[in-house]
This record gives sequence, C-alpha cells and structure tokens, in this order.
Amino acid sequence: MAGHHNILIIGGGTAGITVAAQLKLKDRSLDVAIIEPSEAHYYQPAWTLVGAGTFDQESTRKPEADYIPKGVTWIKERVASITASDNKVRLESGEDVTYDYLVVAAGIQIDWAKVKGLPEALGKGGVCSNYLYEQAPYTWEVLKSLKAGDKAFFTQPNTPIKCGGAPQKIMWLTADHLRQNGLQGKVDVEMMSPGTMLFGVEVFRNALLKVQARYGAKWSHHTNLVEIRGDKNEAVFDLLDPETGAVTGQRVERYNMIHIVPPQSAPDFIKQSDVANAEGWVEVDKNTLQHTRFANVFSLGDSAGTPNAKTGAAVRKQAPIMVANLLRVMKENKLTDDKRYHGYTSCPLTTGYGEMLLAEFDYDNNPDPSLPIDTTKPRWSMWILKKYILPTLYWKGMLRGRA
Ligand SMILES: Cc1cc2nc3c(=O)[nH]c(=O)nc-3n(C[C@H](O)[C@H](O)[C@H](O)COP(=O)(O)OP(=O)(O)OC[C@H]3O[C@@H](n4cnc5c(N)ncnc54)[C@H](O)[C@@H]3O)c2cc1C
Repeated sequence: MAGHHNILIIGGGTAGITVAAQLKLKDRSLDVAIIEPSEAHYYQPAWTLVGAGTFDQESTRKPEADYIPKGVTWIKERVASITASDNKVRLESGEDVTYDYLVVAAGIQIDWAKVKGLPEALGKGGVCSNYLYEQAPYTWEVLKSLKAGDKAFFTQPNTPIKCGGAPQKIMWLTADHLRQNGLQGKVDVEMMSPGTMLFGVEVFRNALLKVQARYGAKWSHHTNLVEIRGDKNEAVFDLLDPETGAVTGQRVERYNMIHIVPPQSAPDFIKQSDVANAEGWVEVDKNTLQHTRFANVFSLGDSAGTPNAKTGAAVRKQAPIMVANLLRVMKENKLTDDKRYHGYTSCPLTTGYGEMLLAEFDYDNNPDPSLPIDTTKPRWSMWILKKYILPTLYWKGMLRGRA
C-alpha cells in the first residue's frame, strides 16, 4: 500500500499543479499528493511557436520538481486504474493509494496509431506535428524547406483535441512565412478537416475567413486523415458525407509537408474506470466540476467530461471554481453557492508572424472577452501577449496558484 492522502490529484500537468498550488495557498495544513510520472513539466501552448521557428524549444520544458508545491507529496508513478467506489487508485507498480477526495487531471491521450503508418512516418519525410515536445522543432525544419511547386497539408482529426485552434495556427504561420519569402501562391497550402466550418464562433470565423483569403489558403471540409504512406510521401483521407459523416470515398495526396494534429481521446485508464462517462471522460457536472455519482471526486482540464474547448486557458478559469467547491464539500459537505464554470475558454490564434486574434468564448459559443480591447481582429499586442506575457504568467503565476 503506497499510502492514504486526504486529497489525491492524478496528473501534475497544467491542471494538477495549479489546483495543488491553490489548495496549499488556501490551507498549508492540507494533506495533498500528486501522482505524476514525468520528470518534466511542459508549456504546451508555445509548441506552435516552436514549430514556427520563433520560440526556444528548451524554455517550454522545466523540471516538474520545481513546480510541485511545497508540502505536497509527489508520487512519481503512473496510475493504472481508479476504483472510485472504493476510494482507491492503483499504480502501475501494483501498489494502491487511497484517498478521501480525488481530483482527476490526467490530460488527454494522443492516439498516434489511429492513423495507419503515422507512428513510423512521424518526424521524417515532411511528416510533422507540434503535439510533441520532441517533434515541434521538426515542423520548422520542414516549413522553412518548402519551395515553389510544393504542397503543404494541415490536418485536424475527427476527435476532440486539446487546443482546437492549433491545427490552423501553424497553417497561418506557414502561409505567412511563404508570403514573406515570395512563395505565396507558389506553394499549395491546404487544411484537411472533418468539420463543417473554419471556426465555431461566428465573429472569429468571419475574421479568420479574411485571413484565409489574404493567404489564398484552401480549406477542405469533411475530410479525415486515415493513413500516411511515408515511403511514397502520400496521405490518404476519407471523404465524409456532410449530413451523416459516413465515408463516401477517399482522396490520396502527395505532400512535401504535412502537419498532423493526431486523434485524441480520454486516457485509457479513465475510460476503463468507474468515473468515466459514455465517451470515456470523467463524468462531472459541467458547472461545478464535481463528479455526478461520486461526491468526493472532481475533475478539470482535458480529462474532464465538460463540453468546453480543451485549453490551458479553460483550466485557469476552472481551477479556482473547482478548488472552492472541493474545500466547501470537505468542510460542510455541500457545494458553494456562487462558484460555477460557464465554459470559458480562449484560443490564441496566431494569424501570422507578429499578429494574433484572441478567441474567448463560453459553452454556448458566445464571445466572452476578458480584455478591454477588440480581440476579434488580428493584433500585434496579442502576439506579444502570446509570445512573452502568457508564458511568464504560466510559470510564475498560474502554476504557483496566483493567476
Ligand atoms: C500544440 C499545442 C498547442 C496548444 N496551445 C494552447 C494555447 O494556445 N492556449 C491554451 O490555453 N492551451 C493550449 N494548449 C492546450 C493545453 O496545453 C492543455 O489544454 C492543458 O495543458 C491541459 O491541462 P491538463 O492538466 O488537463 O493536461 P496536461 O497539462 O497535459 O497534464 C496532464 C498530466 O497528466 C499526466 N498523466 C497522464 N497519464 C497519467 C497517468 N496514467 N498517471 C498519472 N499521471 C498521468 C501527464 O504526464 C501530464 O503531466 C495547446 C496544446 C498543444 C499540444
């Protein structure tokens, strides 16, 4: 038995560390433990900029040990299963940890193998992805080697993903790089997406359509990447019926660059546990973040079964609400009256080098601005926010429980 903790947090990523830090700021005496196998903590939002050659890869990774809050126990292991009916978590080592309260913050699982041939092809021959720390610099290698006559594809899977804007952010940056190097119109730039529209929120969609027109980029809806033939530089896409989503045929394309956003899903150990909903995510109330069947279980971030766009910005709004509700449940066995999450998320859409549009919206796709300026237009100030201010806010504020 690896022990018992009053509050046990699974995952020491964005959500896990933020929650642990906020709990300890509220009450130093709390017994909190984090289960996290990784020695490193990553600032994933900057990987888009790494892939575009405008951010230092190494500065997106810092030792996890530096961010485990003082007084919090770090269990450096991977969780194998959760049995909430027994208040128990099993580690991959076979040991059990029991808890009074559980916070599930294990992120999202990347399913590379769901695209045939992708695991073997990734990282060579023009097949790149910003979804891994190790891979993001290769995107830049491929991007800067594009030449007249080449074809560059960008993909989006038919699953939920973290950072819904990431597929197109790197496309706009690539298009801008080509423009700056006299290659606009000479390299084909095309998004292959299973969706029906460029962005779900109208006001931002309209702005992004102007960006698309500016670069002359193509956007193919109702397409889904299913295979990479790395030896032939070919990508195979299913063509989907717009009404039913049924596969109606296939399109095979030769690529010089293909930036892949891989299929993603809830971590397998959550899918197989009693805290999961039908889709495999942790079944929490979308406003209180408390589990709908186990009152001592909470979840936030990418693992949570909340219908918001999965981002670190969403975690920033969720964490104080979840912490307040957890503490109230611990003290008085009831939720707070006023701490509710309404789906806030934000997507910093880099539309070119030196400009960004900040899409902030809620569960109902209503714009939910937090800044006193109009962020529906690409702006230089938002680029500065993304490149310099947000990383500092993350490492120094959010992970310390202060932002
Ligand atoms: C390319 C890219 C661009 C992005 N851009 C943005 C952006 O511009 N803005 C934004 O807000 N967000 C962005 N995001 C999304 C953001 O990084 C995530 O939404 C955020 O990190 C979610 O936090 P989390 O704690 O839920 O998951 P994570 O931060 O991923 O943490 C999950 C943790 O759980 C751990 N874990 C996993 N399995 C287990 C297990 N079995 N046992 C124990 N621990 C486990 C992992 O090691 C990890 O440390 C981007 C992400 C990517 C990849």
